[in-house]
Amino acid sequence: MLVENVSTRIFHIVFFTYDSSAYVHFYDCNFRCKGCLRKLSIWDCHLPSDVASRLKFRGFLTLEGLNNVVVELISKYGMKRAVLGGGEPTTDPNLAKILRVLKGLNLDIAVLTNAYTINENVMKEFVDPHVTVIVSIKSIDPVKHEAYTGFPLRPVLDNLIKMHDLNVKLLIETIAIPGFNDEYDIGELARFIASLDKSIPMIIDSFIPVPGAPWRRTTLSELERSEKAASIYLDNVYGRGKVIVEGLKGEVYLIFPEL
Ligand code: SF4
Repeated sequence: MLVENVSTRIFHIVFFTYDSSAYVHFYDCNFRCKGCLRKLSIWDCHLPSDVASRLKFRGFLTLEGLNNVVVELISKYGMKRAVLGGGEPTTDPNLAKILRVLKGLNLDIAVLTNAYTINENVMKEFVDPHVTVIVSIKSIDPVKHEAYTGFPLRPVLDNLIKMHDLNVKLLIETIAIPGFNDEYDIGELARFIASLDKSIPMIIDSFIPVPGAPWRRTTLSELERSEKAASIYLDNVYGRGKVIVEGLKGEVYLIFPEL
């Protein structure tokens, strides 16, 4: 397959053996979230700290470079899935082309996005049974959403509704933030999602403290209360903080940049 040699905004890739997936990190983001994990490090949080501390930014992959890396991951490790996140994938002007390259390699694709701005070409690529769009909604309360992200909630909900109407495969993510996004707000978010389709899955992450954000780590019982509140409205609710408590299964390989 002939792949264009244009630049992407992809600066980092890691591979997870437990589900044969590569996590593809995009550099830029259009939000300014108070609790963004990138305040701790721009490198994947699953890498051993001695590896992350030695990593240096080495620029962006081209589309051709991405294709070559993924072809190698498929032949060497049997890669099945690409997860695009970061950062915010929709800020890459070449996201639609990136999606076409990954689809051409027969991968399942998950795109983690704040859904604030999605251009028409990208939206078209999202309409595909092999693509899941994971929409991260920090709060269903418009005032809190803007306070946390710096940007209004309405465009996020409008894009979510648009994707639902186009039959895009969706998953919702939110974070249980003690004293900010608690079980009441998470229940209300679930109620809104259920008004579209109660079978859309929701993942609730635990909050991890970062410099400059006033909140502490979520406890397991807070996470479970939020799960319960969301489960009133939605059929599939998962608290992902439990996975962090239990530890990640399998190996994590640094793919790009190399040390
Ligand atoms: S949308 Fe994600 S990457 Fe962007 S600032 Fe918020 S938490 Fe960070």
